[in-house]
Amino acid sequence: MRLTVIGTGYLGAVHAACMADIGHDVLGVDTDAGKVEELAAGRAPFHEPGLPEILTRNTRAGRLRFTTSLAEAADFADLHFVCVGTPQRPDSLAADLRHVEAVVDGLAPLLTRDSLVVGKSTVPVGTTRSLSRRIAAGLRPGVEARIAWNPEFLREGFAVQDTLRPDRLVVGATEPGTDQLLRQVYEPMLRAGVPYIGTDPATAELVKVAANSFLATKISFINAMAEICDATGADVATLADALGHDARIGRRFLSAGLGFGGGCLPKDIRAFLARAEELQVGEAVSFLRDVDRINRRQRRRTVDLARRLLGDTFAGKRVAVLGATFKPDSDDVRDSPALDVAAEIAATGADVHVHDPEGIDNARLALPGPSYHTDVMDACRDADLVLHLTEWRQYRAIDPVKLSEIVRVPTVLDARNALDREVWHAAGWHVRALGRPHPT
Ligand code: NAD
Repeated sequence: MRLTVIGTGYLGAVHAACMADIGHDVLGVDTDAGKVEELAAGRAPFHEPGLPEILTRNTRAGRLRFTTSLAEAADFADLHFVCVGTPQRPDSLAADLRHVEAVVDGLAPLLTRDSLVVGKSTVPVGTTRSLSRRIAAGLRPGVEARIAWNPEFLREGFAVQDTLRPDRLVVGATEPGTDQLLRQVYEPMLRAGVPYIGTDPATAELVKVAANSFLATKISFINAMAEICDATGADVATLADALGHDARIGRRFLSAGLGFGGGCLPKDIRAFLARAEELQVGEAVSFLRDVDRINRRQRRRTVDLARRLLGDTFAGKRVAVLGATFKPDSDDVRDSPALDVAAEIAATGADVHVHDPEGIDNARLALPGPSYHTDVMDACRDADLVLHLTEWRQYRAIDPVKLSEIVRVPTVLDARNALDREVWHAAGWHVRALGRPHPT
């Protein structure tokens, strides 16, 4: 099948490459000419495991091309996936739909045949309906365009496997023909047993924000428990293990620490709050305000604990920060808890040295103040405190004995509860973490 993918960022580039990989003829479209050039050359413009391989394979095979021209997209296919960003508005909690609207407004007058536009971006409930009216107003006479919503659940770091083998496919459409067409698009996934949930657009839009709200709530719940543990000497890691054995609860997304960030969870729960208020049902999801507040509180708690570990002052201290991205296996620093903590500490005038395996370029752009290092040892040299803020696998593999030889003070704050504290302790480190008792 011929299809286009409009917006080729973290979501769209992977979707385009995966759609080509399952045999479709794909044209990716983005307004960012630099990104288009990279992708067209078969190179991933960001770090995502497995993406370079499928990009190269499919651009070489001629099944995957990229352009900046929406007119070319309208000409190329009758099926268009929309994957542009829906960030938080600068002036409110609501989602900024200007990119999605720009695509619909731009595409409508260019369409010369009946077409289907399928949104994958995360949008407030009701968006499909309003975009359907919007596109109808811009179409040439005699041309029809339907809009459906097919929210995306991929996780950065696992985006390729999540796209090729998602937990489920959700499609919200009003006409049966749309459902059939999308079943054809995703036929290899359906054949492999991926559940397909065909529903109305409002439900589809809600599935995505409800899923993210649930995950965010689970994380904030355990982080609230971590604070209670800190006040009582209880251990949140054991608590989480014990809770997790209950199949109704489950252990995943129950790791206490610095909390969630990135370009999705925080803005999605805020947009949900804003949309619920517009719908006069804000009370129903008002708990999400607490989820957001508890989450942001972990960043402050981490900074406060770091200060205490340094004798109540950052002045004249050298602080090593391990991790800048919002999660491992990504170079994404959008709303990164790690970078937020680094920024807070750098703002005190402390000498902050940041290491990240993939996120340094983005981190430097977002936060120019600290020194950035490509080598963990360089970042930690002469440190008065080491902060472990993003749970990259390689940080768990650090030899704490070797590291203790180059720092000034062997104190580590493991804000992700991911280091082996016994091993670090045995190597002479003072190990602290949120919600965990500490050896005195
Ligand atoms: P992103 O910022 O990485 O990518 C958005 C892309 O859209 C950019 O490359 C931008 O240049 C392009 N763009 C903007 N306006 C355009 C236009 N008018 N025409 C063509 N291209 C345009 O964002 P992302 O992380 O890929 O997220 C996109 C959407 O997917 C958001 O709604 C997000 O919530 C959702 N989502 C993201 C993820 C994720 O893990 N990143 C997962 C699921 C859902």
